[in-house]
Amino acid sequence: MTSELHAAPRQSLIHRPQLDTPLVLSLVVPVYNEAETVALFVERVEQVFADPDAVRVEYVFVNDGSEDETLDILLLLQRRIARIRIVDLSRNFGKEAALSAGLRCATGQVVVPIDVDLQDPPELIPTMVKRWREGYDVVLGHRIDRASDSWAKRASANWFYRIHNKIADPAIPENVGDFRLMDRQVVDALNDLPESRRFMKGLFAWVGFRTTHIDYSRPERVAGTSKFNGWRLWNFALEGITSFSTDPLKIWTYLGIAVSLSAFLFAILIVLKVVLFGIDVPGYASLMVAVTFLGGLQLIGIGVLGEYLGRTYLESKRRPVYLVRRIYEAED
Ligand code: UDP
Ligand code: MG
Repeated sequence: MTSELHAAPRQSLIHRPQLDTPLVLSLVVPVYNEAETVALFVERVEQVFADPDAVRVEYVFVNDGSEDETLDILLLLQRRIARIRIVDLSRNFGKEAALSAGLRCATGQVVVPIDVDLQDPPELIPTMVKRWREGYDVVLGHRIDRASDSWAKRASANWFYRIHNKIADPAIPENVGDFRLMDRQVVDALNDLPESRRFMKGLFAWVGFRTTHIDYSRPERVAGTSKFNGWRLWNFALEGITSFSTDPLKIWTYLGIAVSLSAFLFAILIVLKVVLFGIDVPGYASLMVAVTFLGGLQLIGIGVLGEYLGRTYLESKRRPVYLVRRIYEAED
């Protein structure tokens, strides 16, 4: 396994004692058109945390502009369980923004972002809490088996991690999603980050802290369908790389030097051929290849510039990451 998952030496850990008051644990759950899954999710979590004296679970559901009955179902659940808080966003802002909203509204001593489709098993959380008590600030859920993902998704994820971690700093741990337990201190640090374009996996890695992981195999979605298609994932990957590396911008200088140097050498070769051997230079085909190749190369370079410029432009507007329509508390 990658070494960054084992960053914290054990001897530096300070044990967190079990107090008489229950530990408040916030679950941050972004939901987008999840009418089929929310009730199943709450039921499973309630089973896991049946003893309220040990851990008190606070649910922070972030309704990311669902167009189905998700909000109504959440409100019904809230009548039964007062520990449910619902942050209703004004439209669909995407999972990263929804997570940011949830992290800001969570009040627990420890916070766990979790998918509502039960692909992140809640049964793992007590083990995460145990590791947190040992003194770790972050406990990652590490997927040892992605069999539930399609071949294409696994392959593209693999490539993404490989490329991202080669050029971006800090590296993000492989096969780790958003599912993790974080200490309050870590969440406060995340909330203090000012950027409006938020690639959470990268931000999680950026803040650091003493980190460990537990392994699990990722099950299938209990109901409903995935919200991420190929195009969305591609843009997500671009976001990750451009947010944490400027290498794609710098590469053009070196590519330019290499291309013009070889062009110069080629020119000398042609001159020598003509002067020394009087050979007439046949040109049309090679000229076309050179022109189209260089034209393509330049367009790619401009495209990369555009990716960064566009992101700088959006960031410079200082718009908020999300807008909250209403926060529903139980007593409302
Ligand atoms: N989600 C969201 N906003 C979106 C897309 C997804 O809040 O625009 C939530 C979704 O409701 C779920 C989680 O993000 O709780 C993970 O989504 P999904 O299961 O579709 O992703 P996958 O597991 O296929 O990567
Ligand atoms: Mg899922």
